[in-house]
Amino acid sequence: MFVEVKRTWNPVVGCLHECSYCWARIIARRLARMGIKPYADTGFQPSLTHERLKARFREGEFVFVCDMGDLFGEWVPSMWIQSVLDTIRRWPKTTFLLLTKNPGRYLKFELPENAIAGATIESNRDYQLSKAPPQSTRIKAMSRLKHRKMISIEPILDFDLDEFSEAIRRIMPEFVYIGYDNYNCGLPEPEPEKTMRLVERLQEFTEVRLKTIKAVVGSHR
Ligand code: SF4
Repeated sequence: MFVEVKRTWNPVVGCLHECSYCWARIIARRLARMGIKPYADTGFQPSLTHERLKARFREGEFVFVCDMGDLFGEWVPSMWIQSVLDTIRRWPKTTFLLLTKNPGRYLKFELPENAIAGATIESNRDYQLSKAPPQSTRIKAMSRLKHRKMISIEPILDFDLDEFSEAIRRIMPEFVYIGYDNYNCGLPEPEPEKTMRLVERLQEFTEVRLKTIKAVVGSHR
C-alpha cells in the first residue's frame, strides 16, 4: 500500500535535538521573521498550540504529525503527547504518521491503532550529528516496539550493508523511506550504487519508498 502524505499537522513544534542538517529550524526562523505563530513567540523552542488539537480530519487522509519538531523528544511534557494521541484516537478513519529520533519514548505510551510509529534511523553507524539518541539506541527501541511501524532513512548516511539491512528486518516496518540530504550539508553519504543495494535488500521484506536518490533515479528536489 502506498499512501502519499497529503497533510501535516503541528500541534507541537520545536526541537532540541540540534541535528546539523535540520531544515525545520531554518523554516521556523523564517516564519518567525514573518510574524507567524507560534514561531514568532517561541522560535524553535518546544510549544503546544491548544487550538490545533481541535483540528478536523477526513476519512482516508494520511497525516504527518509534527514535522516541525519531535513530539517524542525527552523535553516534551507527557501531557502534551497524551493530548495529541487522544486527538488521533478521535479520528479512527484517518491514518497518522508519527516520526521521532527518540523512539524509546514510544514504549511509555499506548499508541492509537490508527497511528504508525516512525523513527528516523539514518544508518546503523552511530554518527555524532545531533543530540538525539544514537542510531543504535533507536534501532533497539524500534525492535522492541510492538505496533505499526515505519523507518525513515533520511538523510541517509554511510552504512554497513549487512548490519543495517538486518537491523531494519528485525524492526519489521510496514514501509521505509529512503532519501539523501537535500540541503548540501556535507554529510558522510554512501554512493548511490550502495544505497540501491540496500534498497534491494529491504524490498525482500518491506515496501521501500524512494525519495531523493541522487544520480541513480533522479536529481535533488
Ligand atoms: S529531529 Fe528533526 S526537527 Fe529536530 S533538530 Fe533534528 S532535523 Fe530538526
